[in-house]
Amino acid sequence: MTKKVNVGGVDIIACPSINELIDSSILNSDGVIPGMAIAVNPEKIIAAKNDPNVMSILQNATVCYPDGVGVSYVMSKRIGSKVARIPGCELWECLMSRSIENNIPVYLLGASQNTVAQTHEKLTALGVNVVGFKNGYFTKEQQQSVIAEIVSSGAKIVSVALGSPRQELFIFECMKHAPHTFFMGVGGTYDVYTGNVKRAPKFFRRMNLEWLYRLSSQPSRLFRQSNLLKYIYLYFFGKI
Ligand code: UDP
Repeated sequence: MTKKVNVGGVDIIACPSINELIDSSILNSDGVIPGMAIAVNPEKIIAAKNDPNVMSILQNATVCYPDGVGVSYVMSKRIGSKVARIPGCELWECLMSRSIENNIPVYLLGASQNTVAQTHEKLTALGVNVVGFKNGYFTKEQQQSVIAEIVSSGAKIVSVALGSPRQELFIFECMKHAPHTFFMGVGGTYDVYTGNVKRAPKFFRRMNLEWLYRLSSQPSRLFRQSNLLKYIYLYFFGKI
């Protein structure tokens, strides 16, 4: 039985490790547990507070996990024991490796053509059964044909890298057509996996300062990260 902790109206899973999260909520002996996993960080909690569509998607996700020290910190305080942060890129990589055991078909959506093609190549070389991939630069009008392509590929795991909240909105729509599939929003994971974008050095990760490293290498994130201040403010005033 997995423990869930409510933060800002969202129930988030508190799991001691990535593999336990996968075993309890994503894979079973028949293959995948259908649904959608969302990485939750302070930015998403604030986005959900401002937009009822985002809130409804978070509340309907089968797996919300703490990808952000601001979220795992609040969860730890609430349950009185340490909750580990689960970085989305690590969860995705672990899930890709675990999919090999049962030859689970995987579809990769999102990022640039070059990045998603490189991701496909690297995963295939490891033995992952990638049944299709597509870049994330398509119009609203093309969305239905992208969904049709995913459904006809027969994929049972679909990872979607379109950035938030677009990837979550896309998954919500796609799930209606693929009810036996597991979906995961992965943000900039393929960029990091292929080495096209550098992940924060170990020091920053160990100190839980990955967000600071990303801010210094992409200053355009400043507006998004200003939501972190709002989150801290709401936490201290008991509003999340
Ligand atoms: N992206 C995309 N289509 C778009 C906009 C973005 O495929 O129309 C991709 C982009 O190439 C990147 C990912 O979405 O690979 C988003 O990365 P970001 O770091 O912004 O996501 P986060 O993890 O912060 O949500």
